[in-house]
Amino acid sequence: MEWTALIFEEITSVLVEAGEPSYRAKQLAEWIYGRAILDPAKMSNFSGALKDLLKSIGSFQALEPVKVQESEDGETWKFLWKLHDGALLESVLICSEKRRTVCVSSQVGCPAKCAFCASGKMGLKRNLTTGEIVEQVLKIQSFLMEKGEAVNHIVYMGMGEPLANFDAVVKSLRILTDPQLFGLSQRHITLSTVGLVEEIYKLSQESFKINLALSLHAPNQHIRKKIIPYARKYEFDELMKAIDDYHEVTKRDITYEYILIAGINDQVEHAEELAKLLQYRQCTVNLIPYNPVQGLNLEKPTRPDISAFRDVLDEYEIVHTCRYTKGDDIAAACGQLALQEA
Ligand code: SAH
Repeated sequence: MEWTALIFEEITSVLVEAGEPSYRAKQLAEWIYGRAILDPAKMSNFSGALKDLLKSIGSFQALEPVKVQESEDGETWKFLWKLHDGALLESVLICSEKRRTVCVSSQVGCPAKCAFCASGKMGLKRNLTTGEIVEQVLKIQSFLMEKGEAVNHIVYMGMGEPLANFDAVVKSLRILTDPQLFGLSQRHITLSTVGLVEEIYKLSQESFKINLALSLHAPNQHIRKKIIPYARKYEFDELMKAIDDYHEVTKRDITYEYILIAGINDQVEHAEELAKLLQYRQCTVNLIPYNPVQGLNLEKPTRPDISAFRDVLDEYEIVHTCRYTKGDDIAAACGQLALQEA
């Protein structure tokens, strides 16, 4: 059992069953979530016997730090961890003005195998457990607390397809947003998906108010299928319907991520088609110029093509941002997470 995989009620019942008073749950939650301390030895108001008891009931840590890399501009940090089975895992911290955003991974490797992404090249190794997801945030929280700062946004945009690891991801969301535990506002969390239709419907039934980002990347099914193998599984309209449903049920605006790849989806005609698709939908388009991935034969869009694309979105009054590449010098940018230990 992982302590970091329990919601508050579960922590309480586990402790009560072990003969402890129920107020211990609050104390333990304060150590783990309030202070990001995962080593029972440092839980100074607990007796030695209690520390031993806690350790005998469950594990506290699953991530062993291997390497931390800082980007040249000092705004992006990439953390490499080793898991119990030797698998490697990456998380990214992006600092931008007051935002401290943790980009968490949800799987080791990824089943989606998108044509432009490094994470898919190795295929899916395994799902992460709830504790392994939560702990990425806690470890980075502890890193920030040393500088007097704290995590204030989380994006499920690291390695893996979060909706393909549905149960563990949903549980991690509960823990990270529980006011008695990590307590982050649901509005400060974004989950990004390649578009798993059934799971999108399931997520809208979970009564969260988290933001959903869809990795759309193409204005039509024809182009989408070429770069996203998962697109073959669902009709384009079916996917858009699921996304519309999420918006209706949760009242959250959708973010459409759109990677611009030279000659494939970055021309004015593609922008027109995208604009027509989204013009009556309440949403933001997040353009991501393709970040080069070793071994992939794709090109970055040119500056003039990016601006022409944006002009079309402006004409249709579609809110959009362009994700300035952060951390590409340490291969922490979108699509570059591929686990290099050396
Ligand atoms: N599997 C989820 C979560 C990964 S999020 C998803 O597909 O949404 C990572 C984001 O970075 C996605 O929008 C992904 O499409 C994008 N991305 C992947 N490779 C990229 C690359 N080489 N350059 C820029 N963005 C990339």
